Amino acid sequence: MSHHILIVDDSILMRTALKRTIEMVGIETASISEAGNGKEALEVLDSKPVDLILTDLNMPEMNGVELIHCLKEKSEYANIPVIVITTESSTIRIEDLLTEGIQDYLHKPFTPEEFREIITRSLGICS
Ligand SMILES: [Mg+2]
Repeated sequence: MSHHILIVDDSILMRTALKRTIEMVGIETASISEAGNGKEALEVLDSKPVDLILTDLNMPEMNGVELIHCLKEKSEYANIPVIVITTESSTIRIEDLLTEGIQDYLHKPFTPEEFREIITRSLGICS
């Protein structure tokens, strides 16, 4: 099964790195979309199907926490798995987000193996 993945990060380098990592670890994708902040992510979600969202937290315009709040309030998006990929070291903040319904999180920097494990688990792929 191929997946539609949305990468949300204000760093174009990070978005490119994530895209390459998805390809490198062999996750089958139907599409990989990119957004530079939460606002852009909502625009992508309005225009195409998305099965998994990978999001940064610190971004201009609309940050990751605001995006997650928005998603969880909209019934059409509330069930899309969200993985937070961040340098944020505050475990309290991450705990809050897990309570709010994010699927998982990954601290930067991470290894391709850690990345693969989290993505496959969230997509329900047997690896
Ligand atoms: Mg950022």
